Amino acid sequence: MSATSCLHELFIASARQDPQAVAVVEPGQGSISYGELDALSDRLRDRLAMLGVGRGDRVGIYLPKSIDSVATLLGALKAGAAYVPVDPGAPVARGAYILHNCRVKVVVVAASLADKLGSALGELGATPASIAVDVSLAAGSGLRSALDAADRQTAAVAADKAGNEPDDLAYILYTSGSTGKPKGVMLSHENALSFVDWCSESFSPTAADRFSSHAPFHFDLSILDIHVCLKHGATLILIGEDIGKDAPRLAQLIADERISIWYSAPSILALLAQFGGLARHDYGALRQVLFAGEVFAVKHLRTLSTLWPRPRYFNLYGPTETNVCTWYEVPLPVPAERNTPYPIGKVCSHLRARVLDDGGAAVGRGSEGELCIAGPAVMRGYWELPEQTARGFFIDADGTAWYRTGDIVNEADDACYTYLGRRDRMVKRRGYRVELGEIEAGLYRHAKVKEAAVLAFADEQAGVSITAFLSSDEVKRPSLIEIKRFCAENLPLYMIPDKFSWFDSLPKTSTDKIDYQRLKEIG
Ligand code: AMP
Repeated sequence: MSATSCLHELFIASARQDPQAVAVVEPGQGSISYGELDALSDRLRDRLAMLGVGRGDRVGIYLPKSIDSVATLLGALKAGAAYVPVDPGAPVARGAYILHNCRVKVVVVAASLADKLGSALGELGATPASIAVDVSLAAGSGLRSALDAADRQTAAVAADKAGNEPDDLAYILYTSGSTGKPKGVMLSHENALSFVDWCSESFSPTAADRFSSHAPFHFDLSILDIHVCLKHGATLILIGEDIGKDAPRLAQLIADERISIWYSAPSILALLAQFGGLARHDYGALRQVLFAGEVFAVKHLRTLSTLWPRPRYFNLYGPTETNVCTWYEVPLPVPAERNTPYPIGKVCSHLRARVLDDGGAAVGRGSEGELCIAGPAVMRGYWELPEQTARGFFIDADGTAWYRTGDIVNEADDACYTYLGRRDRMVKRRGYRVELGEIEAGLYRHAKVKEAAVLAFADEQAGVSITAFLSSDEVKRPSLIEIKRFCAENLPLYMIPDKFSWFDSLPKTSTDKIDYQRLKEIG
């Protein structure tokens, strides 16, 4: 365990150690040193404190990934608050719901989105204070000038230390919710520190490392990117959403920025392997490739490891509720005849794992069951959802709370777990967690949709493809363009179905429920 009890103290210690070192890079735009980032996040802390933010509050971050957003999350933590990163690319109503749901006291928002977000929040009756940042100004200048402008009105005074306890929340990450609304996973400083310390022990990063930041900040992969990097005085290379999906440009960036520790969902690594033109560049700096979030198809892993033969490869597994809880180093080379995915590996040293049957009894090695996790990285619960939180845990005779991952696994004789699938309706798409029920709830909001059932099918290329089966009473059904536009306005991009299939009425079971089995056969 760290000597510190707060996540941001890891960063502060690195800033004291070497203030000149480069902390964060916006490729092609600029960078910020540890000392400058410390000063900028201190200024934000003081402004937040003036706006009434203190220990136990929440601060929303509605910004594209940038030095501004890194400074904002550090400023929020320094002010004693939990940060809540929200996807500014998702429909504004979803963002406003999240910010309202956890009652952020202040939201730091991209100036170009401030009016839209303000009206969406207003419709919900929420009026948090906001700090609008011009994100077209690079390298932290946007936040700096927003704070300058606020200082000209009323100068900020240095805030007292917030004095957080390890159990205080450090961040809330919203994931897809089966009831149709995103749900907030509450993670404390202790949760985060136990994970970050495990990363230090397992990957031995140094100040010379250059970490990728590929995942968006509302995705739990970002915790490793940001906080492990900053703990070790290393450099974080921010990768924006556009370039992050563009294999040839991304391939160039990884080489140009001499990234040494890469972490992402497998889907982008598969794209890099197929379309990145990796053979054109020098990846001499790359020493570790970490992937998590979904199964990495072996054929793409094989291609990737042939093109990038030097780094070590790790399959990391875990839900947002625990962050990484099992890990596996892929032995290279990947044999030509292998086609089954690699295991998710052994439980991480800071956690304990059990495989339980439906009744909560432990199953033996080799038998299938649900993977359950206990230990210091397990979330505090879902924000204001006590019933869902209670359902998420199994409490054993000793009173230990085991988080039920919902993932079916079996354990081999070498204590490595193999991932077999989900027990519910959650799927992963490009690494994003999608509850099919949330898509259905979104579709039901369309006035002409009478019934909606959403199913996921295995897809050779995309891993999973999503079909919406719909019925309508209207003679004139919505056109494909209309329904797609509606989805784009109501759902994040990665939740929009690939196919829409219309019926007069959806097939029913004998108990008059929508017959999902039949729909699966129809495909
Ligand atoms: P998230 O909360 O977005 O991190 O999603 C967690 C879910 O993603 C897990 O419960 C698994 O179903 C899936 N998942 C995460 N990592 C892996 C992995 N390495 N292999 C297979 N599935 C994974």
